Amino acid sequence: HARRSANGIFLPHLVASMEQVEETYIMVKPDGVQRGLVGEIISRFEKKGFRLTGLKLFQCPKELAEEHYKDLKTKSFFPKLINYITSGPVVCMAWEGVGAVASARKLIGSTNPLQAEPGTIRGDLAVQTGRNVVHGSDSPENGKREIALWFKEGELCQWTAVQAPWLRE
Ligand code: ADP
Repeated sequence: HARRSANGIFLPHLVASMEQVEETYIMVKPDGVQRGLVGEIISRFEKKGFRLTGLKLFQCPKELAEEHYKDLKTKSFFPKLINYITSGPVVCMAWEGVGAVASARKLIGSTNPLQAEPGTIRGDLAVQTGRNVVHGSDSPENGKREIALWFKEGELCQWTAVQAPWLRE
């Protein structure tokens, strides 16, 4: 990144470029697929201006669900969570953008849909934590980890969106 001039002086007009381009793993959970919310959910990230780099419908095996949620292994709801995630196909997505991880979490809303703000995906479309329709990575590190976990390399695609110059100055 060219954040500094040759003599190391910080260049204020390049501040915007310092905001980190991040990858986030977004997944429509089985309830979202069953309820016909796939288009609606994809549309929210698409409209926001993130770039889609991976997309597939997928029946998740138990082992993958357990690996994905390994940090929650000790929770009492873990077996239920694994049953839920493997109960039908999910839609796996990789999205990229400046600040994409935190921004996607805001678009998704609180884990408990009853506490999620109206306007968020969970706030608008769900009523229970155990059926909260969508997943989004909680850190840039987990974004990378989860995309690597759910996608094979050939399934991801880098491309330039024609709208790019109209999204960021
Ligand atoms: P988030 O998905 O918002 O990052 P967590 O990482 O805390 O939330 O939990 C992962 C998922 O586990 C939640 O989205 C939800 O599907 C499920 N979950 C979390 N807490 C509970 C709970 N108390 N009862 C049932 N399921 C839960």
